[in-house]
Amino acid sequence: MTGRIDGLPPLREVIRAHGLEARKSLGQNFLLDLNLTARIARAAGPLGDCDVLEIGPGPGGLTRALLAEGARHVLAVEKDPRCLPALAEIAGIRPGRLTVLEGDALALDPLAHLTPPIRVVANLPYNIGTELLVRWLTPPDWPPFWQSLTLMFQREVAERIVAQPGTKAYGRLAVLAQWRTEARIALRLPPEAFTPAPKVSSAVVHLERLEAPRYPADAAVLSRVVAAAFNQRRKMLRASLRGLSPRIEAHLRAAGIAPTDRAEALSVAQFCALARELAPS
Ligand code: SAM
Repeated sequence: MTGRIDGLPPLREVIRAHGLEARKSLGQNFLLDLNLTARIARAAGPLGDCDVLEIGPGPGGLTRALLAEGARHVLAVEKDPRCLPALAEIAGIRPGRLTVLEGDALALDPLAHLTPPIRVVANLPYNIGTELLVRWLTPPDWPPFWQSLTLMFQREVAERIVAQPGTKAYGRLAVLAQWRTEARIALRLPPEAFTPAPKVSSAVVHLERLEAPRYPADAAVLSRVVAAAFNQRRKMLRASLRGLSPRIEAHLRAAGIAPTDRAEALSVAQFCALARELAPS
């Protein structure tokens, strides 16, 4: 596909013109097919009355799609200064609608730059994807700054986010995501969808925030419980959670959980009940 959606050159040309050879250290696997980036932008939901936060725009394939799909304003945060001239060209044809920040997404304060409603859309560098997701899911107060997250992950991580109890993929990410959002896999992509092709397949996960969490719990306590439970997932909970309280068996029973159960068997509701037992409000 050429740059027909916006009159800009095809991405291969952009990459050549600006010398954007992919760097592994920055997790650079680019999407060059503008049909595909359009599908990801559409998976984010209606963008017309939203600001969009994009992490890691690279040469701008997804950025172009977000703007073509009508995003009110896009804030694109990119660590690699080599990408800035290519992104400036996009800003040039979309006056006032694209702001590019050079810097580390992990250090960003989104509300300093964006106005709600905000949707986050990104083909994330894999090395910071999980950290960002957990951070976005566990602020002390809810609702968070964002309305939805539409994010690329390695396929295996995506499966973990939507996994159900009793499966091998069920763990910390599933509990934290399903506690406060409606999460689903929107798109699956083979390695060849990227340039260069990574070793593994990928998937786009769409998480729409719930206005209130499904069950009451303190985010920090729930995070600690879930991390401890799944760190030793083969152990019984009375053993894996021993470090959380000297009376852990009593707390488990009070939350309606058998102390001999393993983490994999617990529902999100049960994890929240245990978090409430351990930290009554
Ligand atoms: N969005 C582009 C696309 O779909 O073709 C590029 C995606 S590539 C997987 C990840 C991008 O994130 C790269 O452009 C990389 O330079 C950038 N990046 C890596 N670490 C970053 C960080 N800490 N903060 C912001 N951007 C980062």
